[in-house]
Amino acid sequence: MNELKKQIIEALKDQKEIFGDELLTSEPLLRKTSVIKSIQSGNESQSLFNDDLLVDTPAWKKSQTLEELDNLINTCTKCPLHKGRTNFVFGVGNPDADVMVIGEGPGADEDAQGEPFVGRAGKLLNDILKAINFKREEVYIANIVKCRPPGNRTPASEEMEACIPYLHKQIDLIKPKLILCLGLTAAQGLLKKRDSLTRLRGQTFEYRGAKVMVTYHPAALLRNPNWKRPCWEDVQNFRQMYDEMK
Ligand code: URA
Ligand code: SF4
Repeated sequence: MNELKKQIIEALKDQKEIFGDELLTSEPLLRKTSVIKSIQSGNESQSLFNDDLLVDTPAWKKSQTLEELDNLINTCTKCPLHKGRTNFVFGVGNPDADVMVIGEGPGADEDAQGEPFVGRAGKLLNDILKAINFKREEVYIANIVKCRPPGNRTPASEEMEACIPYLHKQIDLIKPKLILCLGLTAAQGLLKKRDSLTRLRGQTFEYRGAKVMVTYHPAALLRNPNWKRPCWEDVQNFRQMYDEMK
């Protein structure tokens, strides 16, 4: 075995000790490639390595449709949230939607029915969409995490990190023009920004080819109706941006 290959195997072993088995199963190609890149020096090419080091990309990443993706990931156990779920909540709506709406994670009703935004906050979301002339069926609705956090707590950052690649894949398949993030968790999770909701609202971001805006989470509006007015303004702007893109 050549020296470089030995070094790679040692480095992978170290990483496995630090991060556990998950590292070697979830995204092996990417991670092993980056290990190789970090070790590789000079002109040595990847053709030095046998296929045993470069395991295939996970099957779900190659999904061609949302249905296929759902089928491949709905038994996921990548993070502890799987333990409490009744139903995996993939997402719902038009697979060709121009608009995606992203929430935080399933609540009790969503967990029971396997569909996002079907409880009280969901009813309010439908009304908000209707107010700006979108039907629920016309858009695509998903969450940052696909299994319900116990007691509806905010998902932990490790849980979001584990789940967000699935949302990325959904976005890549749907290719929306516009994304509306509901609440700080959705916005921070997607945009990887640490700013407050106040700062994030009223701005436009770019994300995986889509324009992104941020507003209050409908559950927050149910708790604090004073936020309905600023939310109304946000979604008017969102609609205007949509109309200007057509
Ligand atoms: N809140 C969310 O963030 N997502 C849902 O699906 C329901 C409530
Ligand atoms: Fe998998 Fe996401 Fe559910 Fe965690 S929340 S188990 S990453 S599907």
